[in-house]
Amino acid sequence: MCPTPLPTTNGHANGHPTEEMVAIDTSAPALPPSLNETSSTPQAPPSVKSHKGLYARPSDFLSNTSNWKIIESTLREGEQFANAFFTLETKIKIARMLDDFGVEYIELTSPAASPESKAHCEAICKLGLKRTKILTHIRCHMDDARLAVETGVDGVDVVIGTSSFLREHSHGKDMTWITKTAIEVIEFVKSKGIEIRFSSEDSFRSELVDLLSIYRTVDKVGVNRVGVADTVGCADPRQVYELVRTLRGVVSCDIETHFHNDTGCAIANAYAAIEAGATHVDTSVLGIGERNGITPLGGLIARMMVADPEYVKSKYNLPMLREIENLVAEAVEIQVPFNNYITGFCAFTHKAGIHAKAILANPSTYEILNPSDFGMTRYVSIGHRLTGWNAVKSRVEQLDLNMTDEQIKDATAKIKELADVRTQSMEDVDMILRIYHKGIHSGDLKVGQSAVLDKLLEQHMPSRDSSPNGKANGVNGNGTPAKRQRIEEGSA
Ligand SMILES: [Zn+2]
Repeated sequence: MCPTPLPTTNGHANGHPTEEMVAIDTSAPALPPSLNETSSTPQAPPSVKSHKGLYARPSDFLSNTSNWKIIESTLREGEQFANAFFTLETKIKIARMLDDFGVEYIELTSPAASPESKAHCEAICKLGLKRTKILTHIRCHMDDARLAVETGVDGVDVVIGTSSFLREHSHGKDMTWITKTAIEVIEFVKSKGIEIRFSSEDSFRSELVDLLSIYRTVDKVGVNRVGVADTVGCADPRQVYELVRTLRGVVSCDIETHFHNDTGCAIANAYAAIEAGATHVDTSVLGIGERNGITPLGGLIARMMVADPEYVKSKYNLPMLREIENLVAEAVEIQVPFNNYITGFCAFTHKAGIHAKAILANPSTYEILNPSDFGMTRYVSIGHRLTGWNAVKSRVEQLDLNMTDEQIKDATAKIKELADVRTQSMEDVDMILRIYHKGIHSGDLKVGQSAVLDKLLEQHMPSRDSSPNGKANGVNGNGTPAKRQRIEEGSA
């Protein structure tokens, strides 16, 4: 059983393990299994450079998995999330934290959106962020461009719909008009000495010829980046790979990508894009954005850590991830999802006995990411019916109890017997182990004396019925564990 998650933490209250969990040493590296297979020692050394390019294939000459940048759009795309309403104070906190985390860019809502948006944009530009450049995202229109360059941003992200859907039903312009306006806006922004990106919108439902033709034109005009956007979330990784690879052969500037998550491909698409030669990926914290959002920052980090951990660790302050997610979750009144990448409350919790045994021997067996890289802790859950004696042994050692393997196996059998009725809390498990240990060393208990152990437990364990239905929870009205009660009934 997973413990109840708490809002705005990864579920381990105040960073501490919840009940029935054992925190275990996370200093051992989690390496991809294939490295261990080829390793001559059971534990690979802590820093293994050969991580790099682990999955690189000879044909991946386009791949940028060791050279890519983040355009963090929580303060633009994220503002389009249904629950989002960021005050300036919140925006400043988020911007500063993303700067500390180390993202290369943050993207802000267009100053043309509202007077407040313009004021916020100006205020954030005045913060003097350490390393993060500030962009704002505008329509391909001279009025918007003039407003944007006045705010003090480091660059402008220009977007226009190129799909037939958007050309017919949104702005109603043809490709000739789009090209002419794009050139005008780009030249104006460039004349101010700041960065400029030109992106199509709904790129995957646009005509390939139109797309490549306008990208080639804006590349020649001198944009810093062209952008590919899966605005409706329809693209799959193979389509992304093919489009970006084709585009890579057409333009010499950087390629930015933006993926919506309507069909669950946002991270995979970003990865495919990077493999095909894209240089920048748009993210938002927890993936918040229009509809169900875009590539989440943490999910992208998790994915890229596997491709090149040294690159990721050298660029980003990874232990801050949880703090940023908590801040944004609180700001938009959501919880960090239980299965969130890296910070989800059971992301590093191991339960099955066979997993626990292997994890204790070598974490890489069942982990591709090392929790300690993110300031997280690995847990082995032991108070349940699937537990194994190896996991219990690790707890015995933590409690500094002197027990033989035979005794630990015997105590484990009791834990499993009780957990078959209801999951035992960490406190319960500790109590069982302490009572068992005391019984053995006082001579009151011997291995295999289940009934004697039951008596000792009955004497020393306080009743613990928090459920309205004691029976269902394994405890009868007298506070006696129902399992033992059942056994007594059966033997009567
Ligand atoms: Zn979007």
